[in-house]
Amino acid sequence: MHIHTKLVQAGIRKDPSTGSLTTPIYQASTFQHPRLGESTGYDYSRTANPTRTALEEAIAVLEEGEVGLAFSSGMAAITSLLYLFKNGDHLVVSEDLYGGTYRVLSDIVSEHGITVTYVNTAHAEEIEGAVQPNTKALFIETPTNPLTHVTDLEKAIDIAKKYDLWTIVDNTFMSPYFQRPLALGADLVVHSASKYIGGHNDVIGGLVVARSKELGENVRFYQNAVGAILGPQDCWLLIRGLKTLGLRMERHQENALKIAQWLTECEQVETVYYPGLADHPGHDIMKRQATGFGGMISFTVKEEELVPFLLEHLKVITFAESLGGVESLITFPARQTHADIPEEIRNSIGVTNSLLRLSVGIEHVDDLIEDLKEVFHEFAKTAVNH
Ligand SMILES: *Cc1c(COP(=O)(O)O)cnc(C)c1O
Repeated sequence: MHIHTKLVQAGIRKDPSTGSLTTPIYQASTFQHPRLGESTGYDYSRTANPTRTALEEAIAVLEEGEVGLAFSSGMAAITSLLYLFKNGDHLVVSEDLYGGTYRVLSDIVSEHGITVTYVNTAHAEEIEGAVQPNTKALFIETPTNPLTHVTDLEKAIDIAKKYDLWTIVDNTFMSPYFQRPLALGADLVVHSASKYIGGHNDVIGGLVVARSKELGENVRFYQNAVGAILGPQDCWLLIRGLKTLGLRMERHQENALKIAQWLTECEQVETVYYPGLADHPGHDIMKRQATGFGGMISFTVKEEELVPFLLEHLKVITFAESLGGVESLITFPARQTHADIPEEIRNSIGVTNSLLRLSVGIEHVDDLIEDLKEVFHEFAKTAVNH
C-alpha cells in the first residue's frame, strides 16, 4: 500500500460498536471489567486508551515497525527511551543535536552514571572511533538541527550491528513520509510529533516506534511505569494530522527548495544549508535513504545586525520556536533551541550568532520570498544610513 493511503487510513474503522469512521476521543480514565479476571483490553488509561492505541498502531504501520507508543511530548518520548540504559552504559550521539535532548543527556541522564560521546555522525569513522566496550546505543538525528548534517544511515547501522549496539533515530525532521529508518535496520525511531506529524502548531506530543516486538514491549513497560503518556484529545489531533502529512510534506519541500535556491543568490546571505540543494554534502546520501529533503532550511547572514532586524520586521513568517507546522516560522538557534549549549561549543559546531533557521510552511512561496526580500531590502537601506 502506498504511504498516502496508509496515512489516510490512520485511525479509521476502529469503533465497531457505532461504525464511526474516525476513532472517537475516549475521554475515559478507567474501563469497566466484564467480570472477574476479564478485561476488554482496556483497564486504566495510563496503561492503554483506545484513542491512543489507534494512534500507536498507525505510527507503527507508517514507520514499518512492530510497536508504536505515544508520549506527552517528544522529550517525554526520548527520556522514556533512555530508561533502557543503566548506570555504566555509554551512548554515541550526533553532536549537532536538538537542544532539549542535549539537556536531558547532560543534566539528567549523566547524573545516573550514563556517559555520552558526541560525534559528527555524518563521518562514519568518528562513530566507530567513539565506540567503547560499554557502549550500548547510537543516537542519530539526520539531517541534524540546525546544520543539516546528513548521516549515512546504512553505514551507521552497519557499525552499530558490528558492535551489537541499538540504533535510535530521531526522525522528527523527515517524518515517516520521507524517511523510514527501521526499514534500513534501525531499532527505534523517535519523533517530536509536535512538529510535522501534528503539523498545525497546536499540539505537543511524542512518538516511539520499535522494529522488534521485544524492544517495543520493553519501552511500553517504561511508558506505563513512568506514565508520560499522551492524552486522548491530543492523540486524536495527531491522527487528524497524519491524514494530510503527505500533502503537507510535499508542499513544505517544494517551497523550501525554491526559497533555498533564492537565498543562495541573496547578497546578504553567506551560507545556505538545505539538503535538497545539489551541492549540499549530504544530497546524494539523502537521495538513497529518503524520498525527500524536507522543509527545514538554515542560513547564515553576513552581518549579525541583520538577525534582530529580520526577526522584528518579517510580516508573513513568524519569529517563533518550533517547526513543521503549516505556518512558516523563523528561529534564532543560538538564543532559542540551542541556548543551553555553551557558546564555545555552539561556535565550534557552527551554531553561531549569524545563523537562522527557517521552518518553511505551506503558504504560497512567492509571499514568503517577498517577505524576506522586503526586509533584506529595508536593512540594506538602513545600513547605508549608518
Ligand atoms: C522538538 C524536537 C524534540 C522535542 O520534542 P517536544 O515535542 O518539543 O518535546 C526532539 N527532537 C527534535 C529533532 C525536535 O525538533
